[in-house]
Amino acid sequence: MAEVSFTGADAAQAAKIYIALEKEFPKASKAAIDAMVQEILEKYKEIAEFRKKAGLPPFDGEDSNSGAVASVLIGKKSFFGVNTTFQKTPEAKRRYRKKLYEKLKDFFPNAKNWAQVRFLTHAEVHALLRAKRYLHKRKSEMPKEVIMVVDKKTCRFCQNYLPHVMKLFGIKRMIIFCEGEVIIIPTTEKQKEKLK
Ligand SMILES: [Zn+2]
Repeated sequence: MAEVSFTGADAAQAAKIYIALEKEFPKASKAAIDAMVQEILEKYKEIAEFRKKAGLPPFDGEDSNSGAVASVLIGKKSFFGVNTTFQKTPEAKRRYRKKLYEKLKDFFPNAKNWAQVRFLTHAEVHALLRAKRYLHKRKSEMPKEVIMVVDKKTCRFCQNYLPHVMKLFGIKRMIIFCEGEVIIIPTTEKQKEKLK
């Protein structure tokens, strides 16, 4: 079986992803883990390409203005999402976030409008909304397990509140690869509680 080797900047990230995947899938073969690592790294490249095509700055962990781009993987398809500051036609696109807020607002009694629920303005929610819309049009269901790749580390707001969106969309488990880290939702008791 061919060994997969990674070089340069990819190597460090691949090593982190490798460790996380081995922990998450202890029964998977080395070849299977290699294939998954390869796929995730491809997705990071796709995100970088998406930024270029969309005229967004490249991701820079030191510069918060570089924002975040998320990608939800459904089969072979990637659904990209951006934070609201990057949305080109804000009105049409933000409407979906507003609609989502209408369904979730009981969980956020202190918010006056959708924009005050910070995680709704983030790339992760946007990517999930786009995937959901695509599947809905084709009368398909969201998979129970979803893989997401984000160039920026998923923030605490998203980690805390994404379970509400997951529940609404019928997602039981989400594996988020972000800045070389792997975040599994649900992991904490609070996240599990929100998904019940
Ligand atoms: Zn966030």
